[in-house]
Amino acid sequence: MVLELNDDSDGLPPETLRPLEAVGEERVPDELLSLARQVADRYLASYESCLRLVVPPSTRGRSGFADKRRLSWVDRPTGEDIPPRPSAGFALTAKQQRLLGALPPGGALAARLCESAGVGRSVLHALLAKGLLVLCEGPRLGDQATKDVAAGGSAAGGDYPAGESVTGEGVAPAHGSESRSSSVEPQPQGGPCLRVGQQEVLGNLTAAYRDKESTYRLLWGVTGAGKTEIYLRLIEHVLADGAGAILLVPEIALTPQMISRVRSRFGGKVGVLHSGLGRAERTREYRRIAAGLAPVVVGARSAVFAPLPRLRLVIVDEAHDASYKQEEEPRYHASTVALMRLAMHDGLLVEGTATPLVESMRDPEVRVRLSRRAIGKEPSIEVIDMRHQSSGELLSPRAREVLAETLRSGEQAIVLLNRRGYAAHVHCESCGHVMRCVDCELSLTYHSSSRRLVCHSCGRIYFQPPRCPACGGPPLARGAPGTERLDQELRRLVPRNLVFRMDSDVVSGEAGAIAILEAFGGSRPGVLVGTQMVAKGHDFPAVTLVVVADADTGLYFPDFRAAERTFQLLTQVAGRAGRADRSGRVVVQTWNPDVPCIRMALQRDEQGFYADELHTRRRLGYPPFREIVRLMTLCEDGERAGAGARYLAEQLSPHFAAHELRGPVRLPASRGRERWHLLVLSNDGERMRALISEALSQLREPYRRRGVILVADVDPFTFG
Ligand code: ADP
Ligand code: ZN
Repeated sequence: MVLELNDDSDGLPPETLRPLEAVGEERVPDELLSLARQVADRYLASYESCLRLVVPPSTRGRSGFADKRRLSWVDRPTGEDIPPRPSAGFALTAKQQRLLGALPPGGALAARLCESAGVGRSVLHALLAKGLLVLCEGPRLGDQATKDVAAGGSAAGGDYPAGESVTGEGVAPAHGSESRSSSVEPQPQGGPCLRVGQQEVLGNLTAAYRDKESTYRLLWGVTGAGKTEIYLRLIEHVLADGAGAILLVPEIALTPQMISRVRSRFGGKVGVLHSGLGRAERTREYRRIAAGLAPVVVGARSAVFAPLPRLRLVIVDEAHDASYKQEEEPRYHASTVALMRLAMHDGLLVEGTATPLVESMRDPEVRVRLSRRAIGKEPSIEVIDMRHQSSGELLSPRAREVLAETLRSGEQAIVLLNRRGYAAHVHCESCGHVMRCVDCELSLTYHSSSRRLVCHSCGRIYFQPPRCPACGGPPLARGAPGTERLDQELRRLVPRNLVFRMDSDVVSGEAGAIAILEAFGGSRPGVLVGTQMVAKGHDFPAVTLVVVADADTGLYFPDFRAAERTFQLLTQVAGRAGRADRSGRVVVQTWNPDVPCIRMALQRDEQGFYADELHTRRRLGYPPFREIVRLMTLCEDGERAGAGARYLAEQLSPHFAAHELRGPVRLPASRGRERWHLLVLSNDGERMRALISEALSQLREPYRRRGVILVADVDPFTFG
């Protein structure tokens, strides 16, 4: 990737320079290069990891950044390499000789070499086997970045088929894709007339848009308030202005309805970008967007980097959703990136949600509210205090009764239990021993379908021991029940073909989610049971009942957002009931009806919840009153991980007050690595990031040499 041109080799020894093989044709707009730079600075990430987000998909995973590239560079062995092994087959065939003859000094890309010699890969492999060619490290980019990303799990480019080496394929623009998409282009249709409340909001947003300064608005509107209709009108306005807009949605798999609504309004002007697309499709969309043929882009988090010319509006739907924060390097948040990008164009960012992050609720000036549903009525909420229930079943008699009524009248219900598996953990009732993952130390979840124990962090599967491995005592007992058990209980209550389950154990990928949602959508009566996946923005007009089996599941997470998440989940799932002209019912089972976030969610006291929560955050110095950077050390050796974290804390401590540094503390190990973290909190985010950036740039390399990975997470969403 050419970022800059230079007349001389900058003092590099000539043997480190390689001849250019070819020059691709795709360009990254300057704006996006500059954005990548800013994202790297803001999130203490490597420039390389941010460049990955803006380069055309046709070049990703093909050239450039993957480790594979180095593997595909071949050269003659040098003195340091193992000498050629003399063997019986040492004589060279004509093809092998031709290949060696074609090898330029300094080596070549394997695929190119074969191509120019006109021989197949097998010839190359034969020469490698004989030791007459060696694989060597070709030109490198972003060594550190590659390591960090590998440490964070899958690589950022994991969307793309991996393992492909550089080929001679050109990057000529695909022809025919545009004409094809326009031939099937649906006729764009207008929407309904706006209600008064919607009109006011749209007026406010268009005024903010016309204001030629970069601005932000929070559209705080209850579920069913008609936010989507407002997005569409606003986009129309932007298109009429000759500009482009990006609409971000949480996980595309869960929002097919949104895409079809946008498509039916804007037809072929819509470009869709998400990880479910293959590389060819993605490349085609990327080019249409870059060429200005698709001025409306719908996509998940990374679509904020879509190469739209004249971008002036970004809408983030369901803006509270955690998927907008990337959990691998660069650990960016799409809304923050949108603001950075829009600042270059005096554009407008609109975040829409029924349950804003507490952070977004600080400034009332930028808030617009829709407190009524566009159609349909508010659901009625009934609370069941489980402390007074004695049956061992998950659903109380009252919940069963309401469910039966709903199904009898041919309607649909959603039952939420935000815990996967059959039982949350397995423990010994005699000695208290809990079965844990050997790598992650997290308690294992029992899955009855496979009769196995599963680690929900790393996916490792264990046999259940016949008796307690610690004391040899009785068979192990099962802890808090999960969706699998709820699913079984429901199948005893209602005909099994009416029960649909959705959680990450049964849904894999986009197609799986869509298939389950479609099957459920077509089943009347029907019950959809699952984890928080079922609470996301689906619009099923026949759903008139929502049952929350256990409102308390998220309460005790060691995270300052625990109350907020519980409030959001309850409010969101309640919003799924009675969307069309039928009125909805919500039944909530809880053991903690008096915990404020639960009480206020059930009373729909949203103002009260946010006021309280802001007050608590201010008192404890959490966002939005201070910014947080989480620093983590990971190492197979626990001593080194701990020492690394302590040393880092020591380096930072002269620059921060005691209350601004928390930790370091040890976390449960994960995937065979010991982990430590420390938190830095400051109300001067810029200064904090600059100081940390300085410390990291000094420590990264020495840590790496000792096998310790240093990870910085700016504005973290997870603390486990
Ligand atoms: P939100 O995105 O705020 O949850 P939606 O945009 O999905 O809400 O709107 C909920 C329902 O109300 C949808 O079925 C939509 O078609 C309908 N709707 C929205 N605005 C209007 C309107 N002005 N007139 C009639 N129906 C509307
Ligand atoms: Zn594990």
